[in-house]
Amino acid sequence: MRVFRVPQEWRKPEGARVGFVPTMGALHEGHLSLMRQARRECAVVVASIFVNPTQFGPNEDYERYPRDEAEDLRLCESVGVDAVFAPDVRTMYPRRTTVVAVRGVTERWEGAFRPGHFDGVTTVVAKLFHIVQPDAAYFGLKDLQQCAVIRRMVEDLNFPVELRFCATVREPDGLAMSSRNRYLTSEERRRASSLYRALCECRSEAAEGRSLAITLDRVRMRLEQEGFAVDYVAWIDPQTMDPVDRLKEDSRLIAAVRLGGVRLIDNIGLHED
Ligand code: AMP
Repeated sequence: MRVFRVPQEWRKPEGARVGFVPTMGALHEGHLSLMRQARRECAVVVASIFVNPTQFGPNEDYERYPRDEAEDLRLCESVGVDAVFAPDVRTMYPRRTTVVAVRGVTERWEGAFRPGHFDGVTTVVAKLFHIVQPDAAYFGLKDLQQCAVIRRMVEDLNFPVELRFCATVREPDGLAMSSRNRYLTSEERRRASSLYRALCECRSEAAEGRSLAITLDRVRMRLEQEGFAVDYVAWIDPQTMDPVDRLKEDSRLIAAVRLGGVRLIDNIGLHED
């Protein structure tokens, strides 16, 4: 497995389908599932490990975000990644004069609670796409709005990249895997699994035909009783991220909550997970 740290060290192999998995490291089974899918579908698999400062707000966890490059490289190698791009911040951002910004689909939910976050995401993903030149790129549905935003960027800016969105990998108790789960105390970790359970219950009620507004009031109340501070919980259209008042086949239930100092996001489809 090759590790490259500057764009000039990478030359796209000719005639081979290149699959790309961008990450911020602190790898877990969720990341590895994307790499395994890329491995099945592509001749060459490239991952990136870069904790992207521009997608963190001023009061967020950029400084304390978990970093363990040696372990991450070992994990990449274990699932058959061919090359890892692991640049430093000065390589990626010698200046910060150009920003790629998607409008509309970025405005609600994470965009509202984390101003500037998606500009950081789209800028770094656009740069990574130009550097790696993948044929296919793999993203987790765990970050549903990120998927919608990147889909829009790829369409609007004509990136020649096929996007592959992959199912959320969960702990045995249902908690969606996340690099930030390690910030939870053991007591918070026990309680964290009720987020997924509450979402599943809300989905069952909606599937039985209850009014969506009522299912949302109930899940919000339940989450607050469990000790979560609820940033949002909503039924949405995953293409536009707009709220829906009637369910369609592809509707999804999204939520962001805080437990102690840790923010958790999750989402489920009407018919999956
Ligand atoms: P991150 O390192 O948090 O930027 O995540 C890198 C990629 O892994 C993103 O496309 C995430 O959506 C994806 N990812 C993170 N957690 C999970 C998970 N539990 N299941 C599937 N994909 C995930």
